[in-house]
Amino acid sequence: VVEDVVDQASILHADLDSFYASVEQRDDPALRGRPVLVGMGVVLAASYEAKAFGVRTPMGSAQARALCPDAVVVPPRMSAYSQASKDVFAVFRDTTPIVEGISIDEAFLEVGGLHKIRGTPTEIAIRLRAEVRQRVGLPITVGVAGTKFLAKVASGVGKPDGLLVVPPGKELAFLHPLPVERLWGVGPVTAGKLHERQIRTVGQVARVGEAALVAMLGAHAGRHLHALAHNHDPRRVRVGHRRGSIGSQCALGRRPRPFAEIEATLAALVDRVTRRMRGAKRAGRTVTLRLRFGDFSRATRSHSLLKATMQTRAILETARGLLTEARPLIAERGLTLVGIAVSNLDTDGYVQLELPFDGPDDDSPLDSALDAVRDRFGGTAVTRAVNLGQDLNPAVPILSD
Ligand SMILES: [Mg+2]
Repeated sequence: VVEDVVDQASILHADLDSFYASVEQRDDPALRGRPVLVGMGVVLAASYEAKAFGVRTPMGSAQARALCPDAVVVPPRMSAYSQASKDVFAVFRDTTPIVEGISIDEAFLEVGGLHKIRGTPTEIAIRLRAEVRQRVGLPITVGVAGTKFLAKVASGVGKPDGLLVVPPGKELAFLHPLPVERLWGVGPVTAGKLHERQIRTVGQVARVGEAALVAMLGAHAGRHLHALAHNHDPRRVRVGHRRGSIGSQCALGRRPRPFAEIEATLAALVDRVTRRMRGAKRAGRTVTLRLRFGDFSRATRSHSLLKATMQTRAILETARGLLTEARPLIAERGLTLVGIAVSNLDTDGYVQLELPFDGPDDDSPLDSALDAVRDRFGGTAVTRAVNLGQDLNPAVPILSD
């Protein structure tokens, strides 16, 4: 009997359904049962009633309204979503001490070893869904499996408002008939390359072999996909998972903007991010520029510095270089979102000094003085001249499901 329990898959992936749209339907009874679109220019979330008409995220609002003329369009209310997220995470933490949040509306939970006090993983998952519904009023789907990756696939297949358990021994039978798009990290580009070679299911990916996948998709993606198709994912659920990156992004809307204005927005984002890094005493080495275009395609550009820093000037120079590299792409497709993130963060907030000591690089007197003013008088107390009168539109993250 004990073996049975130990043998059970014990990783839960819990993911709220159409999160923002569900919060809107919860708070306004008139919206329940109706197609709801959140977001005015771009659809950030769509209720399942709207998805039934083919609405997806992200999609332009005009296109979504053409597909679903009866849809109610509401503006996003980020503070309501943040509160709902906090409430749901409280339920997660009452379920198990081992919770790893991955975004505002999803988390991995490790529930192995809780059978004496809380029952089997399946029983725990059933109770978790009921509690989220009762305490927060939102539908949530839970996938249960032996690996993180498979638990996430299971919740995706189990949506909406579902529970899907993949028992040990049945992993590949569940995984292999699924379309390749279900694999973590397979977006339209990778899926396209696989389709060109008549590879449509995960089982077909598994049979291709690692070398062929690497030749097709590059070393990183090829190895990643090979591992996933065989359900190799050794990662454990990590509590209090320290953030791997610190970033900020900004929606620009669909009107074309001069390049100088985009550069100014980037500078404001770098100011914000480096101030947070210094507040958290964390230096980082890799700067990533994120871009989203008018056709909803995305691009990222990264550059790694020789050593970790939290200095505004060094990170801004790197970010500007990446933006300049992407300039032709921006001119061609039109930019609707720009973001910057710094990763490869020092885990202990300790910046290694290099010889010769010419003073710690990350103790720029200008940065410290600006931080002090902004801490005291607010983030907009001191602004770059180029950012005067500019409003940074906080970008509400687009959630896929
Ligand atoms: Mg979700």
